[in-house]
Amino acid sequence: MSKVLRLSEKWFHRALWLVAFVFASFLVGLGGALIGDLPSVEQHQTLDDFMDPAQTPALRQTVKDAQRAEHDAAQALSQAQLKLQVARADNQAARETFNNWLATRHATARAAQDDELVARTAQLDKLRQTEREALTVVESSKQSQLDSRQAQARAQAQLRELEKAAEDGWNKALRAQQLRVFGYRLALTLPLLAVAGWLFAKQRKSTWWPFVWGFIFFALFTFFVELVPYLPSYGGYVRYSVGIVITVLVGRYAILALNRYLERQKQAEALPDVQRREELSYDVALARLAKGVCPGCERPVDLKLESNDFCPHCGIGLHNHCGPCGARKSAFAKFCHACGAAAATRLSA
Ligand SMILES: [Zn+2]
Ligand SMILES: [Zn+2]
Repeated sequence: MSKVLRLSEKWFHRALWLVAFVFASFLVGLGGALIGDLPSVEQHQTLDDFMDPAQTPALRQTVKDAQRAEHDAAQALSQAQLKLQVARADNQAARETFNNWLATRHATARAAQDDELVARTAQLDKLRQTEREALTVVESSKQSQLDSRQAQARAQAQLRELEKAAEDGWNKALRAQQLRVFGYRLALTLPLLAVAGWLFAKQRKSTWWPFVWGFIFFALFTFFVELVPYLPSYGGYVRYSVGIVITVLVGRYAILALNRYLERQKQAEALPDVQRREELSYDVALARLAKGVCPGCERPVDLKLESNDFCPHCGIGLHNHCGPCGARKSAFAKFCHACGAAAATRLSA
């Protein structure tokens, strides 16, 4: 994780970051698959589970029966109405025929026709009787339709009452279930976050840092993204609180690190020039020089200036002269660029 200068090393470094991200994505995928395949810990609860088990099925059956009865009654009614219509038309037609016949009879007034009058009257009575019977069937069909409709309404009202009574318990149970599910997920993800925190503090610069960072990304993603769909109404509090705690911890860590760095820097600047130069890693010194800052104090210096042999801020040597050939060269170079002699001045200067 130190500042690297070699080209291949730089690319290896980038590839390792890629490894970290790929590792994180596979961990996220594996976590998702595991969670998806776990048998669901909670059953799906419905309003029915909270309604009176003794009354509900009977009421449901009543509603169903009443619906069927109403349907049957409606069919019977339309049949009866049709029959009534036919009977009425028959009666009407017969009555007209009879009236016509009666008119002719009055005109002729033959006594021989009295028997026929009795027979025709009897036939008319029969037709009227048929019409009355059809009317009775229509009325009774209407009655049974109304009865079943009212029975249905009564049963449904009772059902609604039962539902209303059960609603409270159901909502309470749903909330409790939501809370439990959230609790399970929290119990799974919080330890991951804790492990990630420990890895960040202790292992992020180890040889295996790509895996460490991969795991840290995985834990952060799991907690702040994958947990979201399971958050209950107050889940935001949990999420934001954990976010605040993490920010505070990271911020505190950064502030302490800054202070430690400044302290170290101050101590280093008090040391003799040679010792300071030896404590600096070669790659770090070259990287800082390439950025135009002093390798010792990291403040900007003009390296192209001929007279700049020492840092004007901290006094560390920037340029010196080669022992064998006397050429002016970087004080941090291991070999003289003019004659190739090893820079023994590092120790003797
Ligand atoms: Zn300096
Ligand atoms: Zn030289």
